[in-house]
Order: sequence, then C-alpha cells, then structure tokens
Amino acid sequence: MLRLPPFTYIAARTADEAVALLAEHGPDALPVSGGTDLYANMKQRLFTPKVLVGLRPIANLGFIRYNDVSGLTLGALASLTSIAENDVVRGRYPALAAAAASISTPQLRNMGTIGGNICVDTRCNYYNQNLDWRKALGYCMKKDGDICRVATSSPKCLAVNSSDTAPVLQAYGARVHLSGPAGEREIPIEDFYINDGISAWAKGPGDIVTRISVPAPHAHTRSAYRKLRLRNSFDFPILGVAAVVELDDAGVCKDARLVLNAVASKPVDVPAAAHCLIGTRLESEALEAAADAAFVVGKPLDNTSATIPYRKRMVRVFARRVLDDVAAR
Ligand SMILES: Cc1cc2nc3c(=O)[nH]c(=O)nc-3n(C[C@H](O)[C@H](O)[C@H](O)COP(=O)(O)OP(=O)(O)OC[C@H]3O[C@@H](n4cnc5c(N)ncnc54)[C@H](O)[C@@H]3O)c2cc1C
Ligand code: SF4
Repeated sequence: MLRLPPFTYIAARTADEAVALLAEHGPDALPVSGGTDLYANMKQRLFTPKVLVGLRPIANLGFIRYNDVSGLTLGALASLTSIAENDVVRGRYPALAAAAASISTPQLRNMGTIGGNICVDTRCNYYNQNLDWRKALGYCMKKDGDICRVATSSPKCLAVNSSDTAPVLQAYGARVHLSGPAGEREIPIEDFYINDGISAWAKGPGDIVTRISVPAPHAHTRSAYRKLRLRNSFDFPILGVAAVVELDDAGVCKDARLVLNAVASKPVDVPAAAHCLIGTRLESEALEAAADAAFVVGKPLDNTSATIPYRKRMVRVFARRVLDDVAAR
C-alpha cells in the first residue's frame, strides 16, 4: 500500500489567509482542496510538500450562482457533484454538467472541486507511476530526471492536460479569477493554460483560484461534451471534445467553438472547425468538415493509454459525435 509522506496541514479560513499562508511557507507549501488528485500524487512521491494549506474550510467559496447578465459563477470549492446536479448548469450549460458528471467516481466527485479540477496535474504514462517504477526507469524531466521519455529530443515536457471541465469551460469562454500576493486578477481560461507539461498554468505558487465565471448563454446556444477513456466507469480522458455553438433565430450557426483535450499540455481550440460550421444549419456535410478539421489539429502523443493511431482516429469520431449531439439538441 502506498502511504502519504509526512506533512503539516494548516486549514485556511479565508482566501486571504490561504494566500498569506502560502507566501509564509514558500516553496514548501501547496494548496489542497478536495485532495483527490494531490494526495494520490503525493503517495507516488510526485509531490512532497512539507505544508498543505487546506482551502476546503473557507466558508464562502462553494457557491454556484447564475443570473442572465453576468452568467454563471462557480466558487472554486463547488464540488463536482454539486455542479453536475445543479439545475441551472444542466439546463443552460449541459456540456459542463456532462463533463463534471464524467469525472472519476461518485465519492471523488463529492470531494473533488472545480478549482482543483482546472488545476489538476498534467498526466503521462511515464510520470503517473510510483517511485520504484520511475526510479527503475531513470525518472523523466517532469520529476527528478532530465529527459522526456515520450520524445527524447523534446526540450519540454509533453504531459497532457487531463481535466474534463477545462475544454468545456474554454469552449464557453470562461474566465478564471485568482487571488495571490499581488492581489486579485482574472484571465480568460485559454490564457490560464500553457502548453508545457511542467509549467502548465499561468499562476504563481502563491496564487489560488477563487472562482470561475462563464458568460450567460444566448437564446439558441447549444453545447455538448464527449470523452474517450479506457474504462467508462471511471477514468481520466485520453481524449475530450467540447463544442459550443450559437444559432440565430432561423437556425443558422452564428458562432462556434470546438476544443480538444488530452492531446496537448493545454486544451486546444480548433478555429478551422468553427469556420466550417458558421453560416450553416449544422448539416451533415458541415459537421463532417468540422470533424475533419479537428482530426488535422489533434495530435496525440505516446503518453496516455491506447495507441497513437487509435487516439488520432478517435479525434475525428468524437468530434463528429459531439457535433451530432449539438445538432440534435
Ligand atoms: C481514480 C481517479 C480518477 C480520476 N478521474 C478523473 C477524470 O476522469 N477527470 C478529471 O478531470 N479528473 C479526474 N481525477 C482527478 C481529480 O479527482 C479531479 O480532477 C478533481 O476535480 C480534483 O479536484 P480536487 O479539489 O480534489 O483537487 P486537489 O487534489 O485538492 O488539487 C489538485 C491540484 O490543484 C491545486 N489546487 C487545488 N485547489 C486549488 C485552488 N483553488 N487554487 C489553486 N490551486 C488549487 C492543488 O495544489 C493540486 O496541485 C481522478 C482522480 C482519481 C484518483
Ligand atoms: S511527457 Fe516526457 S517529461 Fe513529461 S512526464 Fe512524460 S516522459 Fe516525463
């Protein structure tokens, strides 16, 4: 059985207190919310922080709010279950409800938070292993080593973003609100992610995510999310595809966004797919062309389960399925 390394847990009562504690303990400290990703990674000695700053005791960050002007605001501590089961989210942001509901298991969704989910560590078959396994191989660049085992000449780590909600939030145009030593700031979620498997987030070590805001949908906005994984009962995505389209009153597509995940260290927008959809009534030919565009952009590497050719083929298949979902809504 893998055991946790020793650490000191300090409960923060407010976001400001969490930021102050992280600043006080510097590189020895990490924030923890539900712990469903971090504790598993600590057991594998991927992280060995001396101090964990607990965010869960913060009283006022578990909310889910909606109004027609500002849209949806999710407190960083809103649980995945509360998001998946929320009537407003299910009605107005069905892709987000589907993504949250697809994450791991009911127990982990009860503990896991949206803030932790958008910060979930990037994953790779050569990294998400226990210490003995990694030591026997000679480690890799992301932890304790100096080369990438997936692409030995790569100057950067290629571990994949494995959050289910990230591509969906990106397709909806969400913004991430952070609190840190320099105060509060908000950034579009596509700028929150960086295509580098080690430094994958535009947040400093002392920053915490406090909330996520998602614009209000238009009258005819439709959205869907599909996820490829080895075991449908619970598993990280080895491909995620999110689509959000906006139609006019006559049913013509005015705007669209298709985002792939688990094919790079950040969610990948496919503007060419949007181009194929805008101006159409989501006819089969348009959906096929958009799926082809996704196929061109999605370039899986040898760092998650299943072979590269299979995952590459599935990009077109899942893009087409998600667009069929949207067209049928
Ligand atoms: C068996 C198993 C299956 C899983 N399957 C999936 C899956 O299918 N899809 C998926 O997306 N995830 C999956 N996960 C990962 C995890 O359960 C979820 O991503 C969950 O939402 C993480 O949230 P958390 O609150 O538990 O994060 P934590 O574990 O607390 O934290 C995760 C990371 O985010 C940081 N962090 C946490 N909160 C904040 C914050 N507010 N601000 C800044 N940094 C923060 C932590 O320091 C840590 O680095 C799985 C995990 C397990 C163990
Ligand atoms: S992509 Fe390369 S550096 Fe990154 S975790 Fe995998 S093997 Fe390590």
